[in-house]
Amino acid sequence: MKNLRLTSLFADGNVRARSTVDVGGVIVGNRPIMIAGPCGVESEKQTLTAAVAVKEAGADMLRGGAFKPRTSPYAFQGLGVRGLKILEKAKQETGLPVVTEVIDPRDVSWVAEFADLLQVGARNMQNFSLLRELGRVKRPVLLKRGMYSTIEEWLNCAEYILSEGNKDVILCERGIRTFETYTRNTLDISAVAAAKELTHLPIIVDPTHGTGRPSLIQPMSLAALAAGADGLIVEVHPNPEKALSDGDQALTPAQFSQYMQLLNRFTGAVSGWK
Ligand code: PEP
Ligand code: MN
Repeated sequence: MKNLRLTSLFADGNVRARSTVDVGGVIVGNRPIMIAGPCGVESEKQTLTAAVAVKEAGADMLRGGAFKPRTSPYAFQGLGVRGLKILEKAKQETGLPVVTEVIDPRDVSWVAEFADLLQVGARNMQNFSLLRELGRVKRPVLLKRGMYSTIEEWLNCAEYILSEGNKDVILCERGIRTFETYTRNTLDISAVAAAKELTHLPIIVDPTHGTGRPSLIQPMSLAALAAGADGLIVEVHPNPEKALSDGDQALTPAQFSQYMQLLNRFTGAVSGWK
C-alpha cells in the first residue's frame, strides 16, 4: 500500500482513533446502522410506501437513486430532479436522512441540497473529477468500491475526497467481479476487516448488489457485521416484480421486517444494535 498517503490511513499502525460520520443526525461508526429503500425512485407512491415500511422496520436512513448509472443506455435512467423532490417528501414524512447517488460532477452542489449522504456508485468510483468535487461540498460521501477495483485503488479514491477537505467519507463494500456466476458479484467480506486495519473510516456493506440474491442478503449481512461493518445498505421495493431496476434482488417490506428482527436479535447479543 505504498501509494497511500495518510489522510485515510492510520498515521502509524498503532493508532486506533476511528472516525465517525454524522449523516443528518445519525452517527455512523458507533453502532451498526441500516440504510434501506428502493434501488431507484420510480414514483411518489412507490418511494413513500418503501420509506414508511423501512422506517417502521427500524431503518436509520432511506436510500433511493434519482440518477441511475445503468449498464444499458436504454434502461431506466432515474427521474432526476423529480426523483430528488420525491425523496425530499419521503424524508419529511418519515424523518429518515436520505442517501442518493450523484453521477456528474456538475450536479454535486445542487444534489447535495437534497441528500444527507451522497453516494458514489461502483461504476463511478474512479471518476476523479466527481471525487474532487465531492471533496469540496459540505456533505458526507458514501464511496462504493468499484467492481474491478483493488482495496488500494478504492482507498486512494477516498483520498481524493479527503484531500480536498471533506473528511466525512464512509466506505461501502458491494462485491467485486470474479469468475463466479451464481452470485451477481462476489461480496468481499475480507475488505471490511482490511479497511478497518488500514483506515479510520467507517465502512458499510451492500449485500444486495454484493450477491444479487434476496436469499443471501441475511447470511451475508450477519457475516458483514461479524467482520466489523458499521452498517448495511439494502434494497427494498414494495413490489419487486414491477421494479424498474434491480427487482430481482430487492426484499419486500415484509421480508425486510423479518430480516431486521433477526439482525436485531443477533446484534443485540454481540454489539447492541439500538
Ligand atoms: C445502487 O446502489 O443502486 C447501485 C447502482 O449500486 P452499485 O453502484 O454498487 O452498483
Ligand atoms: Mn440497485
